[in-house]
Amino acid sequence: MVQVNQDRVLFDRARAVIPGGVSSPVRAFGSVGGTPLFIAEATGPYVVDANGDTFVDLVCSWGPALLGHAHPEVVAAVRDAAGRGLSFGAPTAAEVELAEAIRARVPVAEQVRFVSTGTEATMTAVRLARGATGRDVIVKFAGCYHGHSDALLAAAGSGVATQGLPGSAGVTAAAAADTVVVAYNDLAAVERVFAQQGDRIAAVITEAAPANMGVVPPAPGFNAALRDIASRHGALLILDEVLTGFRVGPGGWLGLEGGYAPDIVTFGKVVGGGMPLAALGGRAELMQLLAPVGPVYQAGTLSGNPLATAAGLATLHLADDAVYGLVDRRSLELQAAVGEALRRESVPHVIQSAGSLFSVFFRDGDVGDYEAAKAQDQTAFGRFFHAMLQEGVALPPSAFEAWFLSAAHDDRAMERVYAALPLAARAVASG
Ligand code: PMP
Repeated sequence: MVQVNQDRVLFDRARAVIPGGVSSPVRAFGSVGGTPLFIAEATGPYVVDANGDTFVDLVCSWGPALLGHAHPEVVAAVRDAAGRGLSFGAPTAAEVELAEAIRARVPVAEQVRFVSTGTEATMTAVRLARGATGRDVIVKFAGCYHGHSDALLAAAGSGVATQGLPGSAGVTAAAAADTVVVAYNDLAAVERVFAQQGDRIAAVITEAAPANMGVVPPAPGFNAALRDIASRHGALLILDEVLTGFRVGPGGWLGLEGGYAPDIVTFGKVVGGGMPLAALGGRAELMQLLAPVGPVYQAGTLSGNPLATAAGLATLHLADDAVYGLVDRRSLELQAAVGEALRRESVPHVIQSAGSLFSVFFRDGDVGDYEAAKAQDQTAFGRFFHAMLQEGVALPPSAFEAWFLSAAHDDRAMERVYAALPLAARAVASG
């Protein structure tokens, strides 16, 4: 009997009613080809697709699933909250507790505003920085992703530091022109931009440790130097920890690196424990420029949603040192195993990490910025990806994404990954 591929059936149906069949572009397998897994359920380190096939999941919902999928205590907290009502449009005790929990882990976040997505968190951070400084220009780095608000969807032009160009159809030239795009890790370019228009710059925004062009860690002292340059020119530093926050350690990347204080920090992903929740935090006097205290408007019907705050609180409560220690160890083991498999087949590659986050670039030599990240062999990644998938391991379906682990990735799950690696390396080598 011929097996019908239910993922395929769903993808065909999906494409008829949803653009590209997906609710967020990278899910469509556009760069690796093939049919995305339609996930029916997920537990611990595994996802199950519409065919009932089980895969070891190295996507972890793109970060949130630090404890693994459907952690019983997180699910129980959400169930419990759901029984008390789904949304009130009014303040709750859980919001207060979650804000306190965030501040305890990231002390620069003296006050916190909750939103539903990372996009909203960074968009609000930008508005707050503009409101606080009375200036218009935002400096961002090529290859850093901060969500899809207009100002942050500016693309780099051909120069080292360029006035932004619209990074998407529908972003006006005016919105992009107030964003200056600089090559990542290039402090000289940042200095130059500030020397030229420092009195117009409201903020520099950077991923705490970039992981949206593959993992490209900041050069030692880079973030601290940004702090210094911004301060000298009266501009703010926005540290985007949407991806790294509460994932690489209890205090995020800032907790690992330390030594400097951003004005605004943005959070998402882990902080919502898999539910739609994100946040921005900063010094109290700065945060109080937000409505209703101050003149910078920001709001949200579902902001601080009770199910999301319950999931976030349960997740932060469970994310102790043992969790981070385990994820760190798994990450190191996996990086070593990937490296060995690729070396054996003489596949050019470089593995880069930032805390437990890592990614594999199919090219030789260190990757310090987006231009270098783009100069990888994406076809090789596609072959590697599909060979892993064939063996029951779901990697992020793009060469520009970090691989994610969780505390639920136990020996059994990892053995399956390790068994798949030599085959995937061979698939790359044999072209
Ligand atoms: N900032 C960073 C660093 C991110 O990685 C992302 C999402 N990948 C965002 C912002 C946007 O978050 P969201 O997808 O929740 O809007």
